Amino acid sequence: MGKYSILDKVKPEVRSINSYTLREYDYEIKINQNENPYDVPEQIKREILDFALERSWSRYPPFDPVELREELAAYTGWNPEGILAGNGSNEIIQCVLEIILYPGRKLILPSPTFTVYKLIGTVLGGTVQEVPLKSDLTFDCDAIEAEMADSGDVIILCSPNNPTGCMYPQDRLVRLLEQNPGTVVIVDEAYYEFSKETVAGLLGTYENLIVFRTFSKAFSLAGLRVGYGLMNPALAREVNKAKLPYNINFFSIAAAIKLLQNRDILSGKIDELIAEREALYTAMNTINGVTVYPSRSNFMIFETPYDPEIIFRELLKDGLLVRNVSSYPMLSKALRVSVSIPDDNRRFITSLVRIMGELETSE
Ligand SMILES: *Cc1c(COP(=O)(O)O)cnc(C)c1O
Repeated sequence: MGKYSILDKVKPEVRSINSYTLREYDYEIKINQNENPYDVPEQIKREILDFALERSWSRYPPFDPVELREELAAYTGWNPEGILAGNGSNEIIQCVLEIILYPGRKLILPSPTFTVYKLIGTVLGGTVQEVPLKSDLTFDCDAIEAEMADSGDVIILCSPNNPTGCMYPQDRLVRLLEQNPGTVVIVDEAYYEFSKETVAGLLGTYENLIVFRTFSKAFSLAGLRVGYGLMNPALAREVNKAKLPYNINFFSIAAAIKLLQNRDILSGKIDELIAEREALYTAMNTINGVTVYPSRSNFMIFETPYDPEIIFRELLKDGLLVRNVSSYPMLSKALRVSVSIPDDNRRFITSLVRIMGELETSE
């Protein structure tokens, strides 16, 4: 009898990659995951809870969350037949890649970007072709166009890009859609409410375009996992085949509907976070030794001449949990900070000033 390991049955592509993980730390201020620092208002929470208390928990959620799709149609201006809601937008991203990718097919990704795309593409056995950002950490549209002209079955553009905050210029996106009608072009607008710029208006013209959005960021609903995709209705019917039945629980569906109906209440906080982002950028820019990159989102990355792990640990000593992104390509000196409430942002600046001053004098 030979020696067998059950892990030999796992696809080699899967064995070769690391899983998406996040370590836990003790902190006072959480600015590491781009969440909304403002919770859902208590009154809205109570209305959602009341609904949940009245509804039978023994029954399945609606097979097709029509009401949620109708509310999303009103919010996005897109056809409800072309809207798919998921247990987080990551689920719908997975469904779309599942119906497209197999060994031999190619997923094009700018790099660095959100790591989940590459993870899913690799697990599915697809070929992942990465196109580096330019040295100023904006999209290299020329290189992407060249790569697409060469080959490609699907491309994902995260805009604003996580973790760099840059946007894919709309005129260049139109060119990409025009020149590659046979390639699925996905734009992940997880941070749309902070950039206030969307390409959803192009959906009616280009059937190869898919737009993703989420409730996890601006809508303060990361804990309940709701996201959605906007696409051509015929394509949505195909993607739907890869989606598991009853993927969103009734509680999360109700919460998403309630938040959409009350979105005006949230918009003041979103505008405040945008103003805070600009103030944070300006303040960081004045700190000696800190290079900060402009962002259209609710986070930004910054670099220092020092080891990012030292900066991370020093910030944590002051209770601030940021994200060390230095393992990403091109970002070996970088950390990412999420925009929070004004008090948190001031504390972050004060702490960073202290750390930079101390590191400079210790040289
Ligand atoms: C946070 C984030 C999402 C949201 O994913 P959910 O599954 O909806 O929570 C999607 N894309 C990017 C790039 C993100 O940063």
